[in-house]
Amino acid sequence: MSTEDTDFDTARERHEQLAAEITEHRRRYYLDAAPTVSDAEFDRLMHELIDIETAHPELKSADSPTEQVGTFSEVFTPVRHLEKMLSLQDVFSEEEVRTWAERVTPEAGGCAYLCELKIDGLAVDLVYEGGRLVRAATRGDGVTGEDVSANVATIAVVPQRLEPADGFPVPSLLEVRGEVYFPVADFTKLNESQVAAGKAPFANPRNAAAGSLRQKDPAGTAERPLSFIAHGLGALEGFVPDSQSHSYAALEAWGLPVSPYYKLVESVDDVFDYIHEYGGRRHDLVHQIDGIVVKLDDIVIQRRLGATSRTPRWAVAYKFPPEEVNTRLLDIKVSIGRTGRATPYAVLEPVTVAGSEVEFATLHNADQVAAKGVKIGDTVVVRKAGDVIPEIVAPVAAARDGSERDFAMPETCPECGRALAPAAEGDVDLRCPNARSCPGQLRERLAYLSGRSCFDVDRMGYIACTALVQPLEPSEPVLRDEAGVFDLRMEDLLSIKVVVRDPDSGLPKIDPKTEREKVVTYFAKQPDKKTGEIEPKKNAVEMLENLEKVKSQPLWRVVNALSIRHVGPVAAQALAGHFADMDRIIEATEEELAAIDGVGPTIAAAVKDWFTVDWHRAIVERWREAGVRMRDEAPEPGEELPQTLEGATVVITGAIPGYTRETAAAAVKARGAKVASSVSKKTSALVAGESAGSKYDKAERFGVPIVAGEDFERFLEDGLPEGDESDPE
Ligand code: NAD
Repeated sequence: MSTEDTDFDTARERHEQLAAEITEHRRRYYLDAAPTVSDAEFDRLMHELIDIETAHPELKSADSPTEQVGTFSEVFTPVRHLEKMLSLQDVFSEEEVRTWAERVTPEAGGCAYLCELKIDGLAVDLVYEGGRLVRAATRGDGVTGEDVSANVATIAVVPQRLEPADGFPVPSLLEVRGEVYFPVADFTKLNESQVAAGKAPFANPRNAAAGSLRQKDPAGTAERPLSFIAHGLGALEGFVPDSQSHSYAALEAWGLPVSPYYKLVESVDDVFDYIHEYGGRRHDLVHQIDGIVVKLDDIVIQRRLGATSRTPRWAVAYKFPPEEVNTRLLDIKVSIGRTGRATPYAVLEPVTVAGSEVEFATLHNADQVAAKGVKIGDTVVVRKAGDVIPEIVAPVAAARDGSERDFAMPETCPECGRALAPAAEGDVDLRCPNARSCPGQLRERLAYLSGRSCFDVDRMGYIACTALVQPLEPSEPVLRDEAGVFDLRMEDLLSIKVVVRDPDSGLPKIDPKTEREKVVTYFAKQPDKKTGEIEPKKNAVEMLENLEKVKSQPLWRVVNALSIRHVGPVAAQALAGHFADMDRIIEATEEELAAIDGVGPTIAAAVKDWFTVDWHRAIVERWREAGVRMRDEAPEPGEELPQTLEGATVVITGAIPGYTRETAAAAVKARGAKVASSVSKKTSALVAGESAGSKYDKAERFGVPIVAGEDFERFLEDGLPEGDESDPE
């Protein structure tokens, strides 16, 4: 047999396998509304099949999935569409959009592009005769769909009768194509009720739409908040649109919902602008979208270009990179937070989603785990939308094989072994009561106090904080609570060892020689071979130096570093701003505290409560003895802060570390400046924190000095930045 023959046989085998697999996935997706693979995985299989058929056209047959649009079941009465319902050619890059545009140019030269959102729902076909809705059907295989008239009748936005309108008399026959969707905002609630009723949750809003519409009993559909948007026409009598946009105007006039977001543009570059715009806004919409559809607007040109067996040639669907992927939920572990809250989190088989690797996802609390209906061992849908932290959307219940197990919230703290309990009766969150010395809580508090919104201690990162709270066998950990953090000495640090953990499993590595856990010194170098002397590492020296330096941080940072429940940077600034003295905060009555702007009764009670605990007071005392600032140099009545910004006009934008917009503005005013809301040539300086937007560009254009957010405090002290004296002009 020649190599060519072998290649062909391999291709045929793979083709057969893929075709069977895709047909099964389609059945699960279209009929059961319970796919077991993600759309991205499905698209990959489909494209592999297309590639094989391109290389071996003889393998392509009329029943290949590449030639078909979908499928239908016998559960509903089959109905033939008046005109075939097609799918859309999908593309995944701007380059492919351009290629499509170039291909259609000879026919379409000069024709406007109609850009619209690709709604992630399910396609339905509505037939109006004499203005009355007579039938609704799913797309099915494109030729025959399923009669879902009774179900569609429950969707409030779908009119039963068309409204006659000026310039748009009701046509005698109208076949409308559109998308039934499940509003994103209602999805979580739906899954919670599914789980509560012992039913499988839906993997995403699209499947929720399909599952809700294709119910045998339309009363079930009526309970779901389904909606609909029209996006095309089929058979027509008594109306001749000359463009897609003209048909949308007519549909809208007759009372059918049309998307408010479509836009006519002239060039491919404008199409890209539209893609970018909605790529950024895709999470602000009521329905999920999985891409952008670009259509040639002119109907004559659409007719001339025609369609393949599966897709029209006059439209293309640009698909966004997937934000949802399927992966395995390997385990559910529990982390202990700064205030002792026990939070379950998912340990996932690492997977790339929206451009970054995801390995963990928070599950909030045991009730949420139960409400989501996830089990350990499940295939789960993981979503990471833009910069948002990853979350588990739902389990893929259809992929279960029976080996999955329920999660049970542990009864004891995984860090210190104490019994977990709700802080108050009826509280859904469980907490570890060992607030002072639970290594988990203390580690988190140390990481917080060394962080940017507190003391901002360089070189005291998360691993350093972990090392400081590890018990040193057979003696005690270096820190029992945070009181001693400013008294740390080099000899304390040199003895600290950390257990080396496997980055994948998180389990301790075992030293093959000793057969015990592998430990290394964290702050010390290896002992000198000859002298046995132990030298500190650079991180230890610098961490201690920095701990010394940060003792003079302003009072609000010290208050924030105490990890008082409900007290974050804003409340800490309000407290420090009002009292300017730790002792006055401690002595204040609950009423006095509550009356302060930005504090209120909950925070006041938490502050009062916190200072009643002996070891809490001891933290303040030890820090005070170590030289930590406990008093801001508040101006005496009548005395002012140095007017470093007198007469200046300052604009503030973006996030300024440690400040809210209000407190930053107040700080600027206290130094004698005016605060303005927009940048002009007269602006003296723009303070631009993280995610500063157009104001930044404007300031650059006008040559207005720009102060970075992290330099804000220096700016308050020193005044306006000096002009660039090296500028030859
Ligand atoms: P498609 O969803 O990629 O595109 C065609 C459909 O888009 C149309 O039928 C229409 O209903 C819809 N649409 C939404 N907004 C539109 C608009 N503004 N204008 C016109 N049409 C609009 O194609 P398809 O053939 O329906 O389905 C294939 C896709 O479905 C796959 O790419 C995959 O993402 C998904 N799928 C997934 C599985 C799975 O197992 N996960 C199985 C089958 C299909």
